[in-house]
Amino acid sequence: MKFCSACGHAVEQRVPDGDHQPRAVCPACSAVHYVNPKMVVGCIPEAPNGRILMCKRDIWPRIGKWTVPAGYLEMGETTAEGAARETFEESQAAVTMGRLVAIMDIPRVDQVYILYHGTLAADAHFGPTPESSEVCLMREEDIPWREIAFPTIDIALRAFFEDRRQGVARVHHEVIRLPAR
Ligand code: ZN
Repeated sequence: MKFCSACGHAVEQRVPDGDHQPRAVCPACSAVHYVNPKMVVGCIPEAPNGRILMCKRDIWPRIGKWTVPAGYLEMGETTAEGAARETFEESQAAVTMGRLVAIMDIPRVDQVYILYHGTLAADAHFGPTPESSEVCLMREEDIPWREIAFPTIDIALRAFFEDRRQGVARVHHEVIRLPAR
């Protein structure tokens, strides 16, 4: 940030009184502009026959790679609402959000992933969107593991399938250590 979003004055990087690290501080209106990690919300949408709705990305980054629906949480949304919205935007599918499957911290890219289990109706509509060139239901054995867009999605999907085999419903917490940007 170079300019104050409240008044337009150039900001300074300094440690505000009582704080412990540098922030963008406006010398004109005294606003302190905090920058915090982003939340990525999504779900593992499961059809009654056990197949998972997968999306082939048609947007940057990882164009052409596969993922479950997920994206940035918007202001004013709950995480489950955001996951449902992202699922609709990426796959045209309406899902009923269920239990929490995974929380994943990725401190190197300042993101936190929250993934739910989503339930698809047997006759659920889905299809390609501006964000996904292909949307399809896949059996576990058909998941293109070497073509998964993000490590978070790979980890969450593997954990989900393992839990499903064992008949348990765990919430997974992972810290993903990526190389520095
Ligand atoms: Zn200002």
